[in-house]
Amino acid sequence: MESHINTYITLVATSAVLNVFLCLYTYFRRSKIPSSKIFILYTAALSIYTFGYAIELASDTLEQMLFWTTVEYIGMPFSASLGLMLMIKYTGKTLSKKVTAALFVIPSITLGMVATNDFHHLFYKKVWLREDSPVPLMDIAVGQWYVVHGAFTFSCLLCACLILIGQWRHTKKMYRRQLLTLITSQIIPMVAAFLYLLGLTPGGMDPVPVLMCITSAMYIWAILSSRLLTIVPIAKDSIFESMREGVIVLDSFNRLVDYNRSLRDMLPELNTTMIGQPLDDIWLTLAGKTFPVEYGREGLQTDLYWQLNGETVCYQVRTSYVYNKDAQTVGSLIMLIDITEQRFLQEQLKQLAYFDGLTKIYNRTQFLHRGREILSEAQLNPQPVSFILFDIDYFKRINDTYGHDVGDQALIHVVSVCNRYLRPEMLFARYGGEEFVIALPNTSLQEAEKLAEQLRVALLNDPLDVKGVPITLTSSFGIAQYNGGSDSLESLLRDADTALYESKRNGRNAVRAYTVSTT
Ligand code: GH3
Ligand code: MG
Ligand code: MG
Repeated sequence: MESHINTYITLVATSAVLNVFLCLYTYFRRSKIPSSKIFILYTAALSIYTFGYAIELASDTLEQMLFWTTVEYIGMPFSASLGLMLMIKYTGKTLSKKVTAALFVIPSITLGMVATNDFHHLFYKKVWLREDSPVPLMDIAVGQWYVVHGAFTFSCLLCACLILIGQWRHTKKMYRRQLLTLITSQIIPMVAAFLYLLGLTPGGMDPVPVLMCITSAMYIWAILSSRLLTIVPIAKDSIFESMREGVIVLDSFNRLVDYNRSLRDMLPELNTTMIGQPLDDIWLTLAGKTFPVEYGREGLQTDLYWQLNGETVCYQVRTSYVYNKDAQTVGSLIMLIDITEQRFLQEQLKQLAYFDGLTKIYNRTQFLHRGREILSEAQLNPQPVSFILFDIDYFKRINDTYGHDVGDQALIHVVSVCNRYLRPEMLFARYGGEEFVIALPNTSLQEAEKLAEQLRVALLNDPLDVKGVPITLTSSFGIAQYNGGSDSLESLLRDADTALYESKRNGRNAVRAYTVSTT
């Protein structure tokens, strides 16, 4: 019996040494080890517990034993909370300050109870030296708080264990050995504590401190062999959650499997009850139509416009397949990237590049570009194209009389009057200062003349109103027509300009079509 006890003490002391080693190892490598603070505290708590226990076992008197028991409890109850925190951290989750503090309430009370047990006997009802033992050993009668403490410690181990088991599915094969080590290190003391509480351990000895030596050894092995805690593999989940892109995971039947926090922010009406439903049904609920993107097609990219908090936002949608380890498709991934800002800037650039800043119609460059396209089209599918060029009469006078601002208003006014008569297929642009051009696809010279006449009359009859003062604006029009052949846009515009000049020469506020005799 005595030699058994000595072996037992040696094992507990070994366990204590291993814990100290682990604690120091983590301390000196703390910069390279994530969650090192908790791990240092955890191993320090275990060191105090196991050393205290070893000395308690080696003590001769009940007083000494009680003293070292109190020392033990400086570490032991806290190691349960710290162990649980460590596993929570390891699985990439975070704990609020409140929850962290709550985890230390029972251990602190336990320590207080043990230290003051003589006054209330709530932790140990009674303590005495065992008579059947050849060496002095303490025996106890369990008090009420002892049960609370036991249940708490057991719950911490169980929770840590369940959290780790819950991670199994999400953990890559290469990290599973690591995870298994951790699960085992939680199960061993749990089972041991259970057997001890049932009185099934040899000689009624508490096996937990001894087994701590095994679990500590497992930690050392895991740290040295698979760099446990230097990599946090399960942080994959946190990466998924903290991605700025919204991610939707679908199974092979296009049913919603998972989505991340960013997606929740992008589509606030999405909720977990929708998991398992086909994405098309979900989209029907959210947007009143089916999902606008063909999912499952690898590398597909489309823009999706969406209303969020009363504003239009634009998401770029990218899709890709999800494969299993046998390279079979098991689902698809849809990524939503917020490109609202980018689209807004692009739109602004487009406005600057394509449109006239004052009148918002096409600028000369865009007109020449699109005008050439209209001409090429007319050359391929023979059809007439007409061009109307017009210039505001005596515009300089408006500037000189009323100022440049009114001149600007006059330009805007002319455009808005003309726009009432133009159809979408007509290309309307500001050609120069107060000169405008219209390309009319599939329009004969006569039809163009008719339209020009309409515009002339409309402008004449709709004066610009400047603070109640009507300012009549007239314009002179020149028209040219493409009717087959190889006329270039430039030469047609030259012809229109010749006709326009004719209008000006003939007293302005007139329409002239270009004919060969015009020259
Ligand atoms: P005409 O009947 O012969 O066309 O006479 P006009 O005075 O209209 O012609 P002219 O080419 O002599 O004058 C055009 C004026 O248009 C000169 C220029 O200062 C003015 N102008 C050009 N662009 C703008 C603009 O963006 N805003 C304003 N307010 N004036 C402009
Ligand atoms: Mg003019
Ligand atoms: Mg002019």
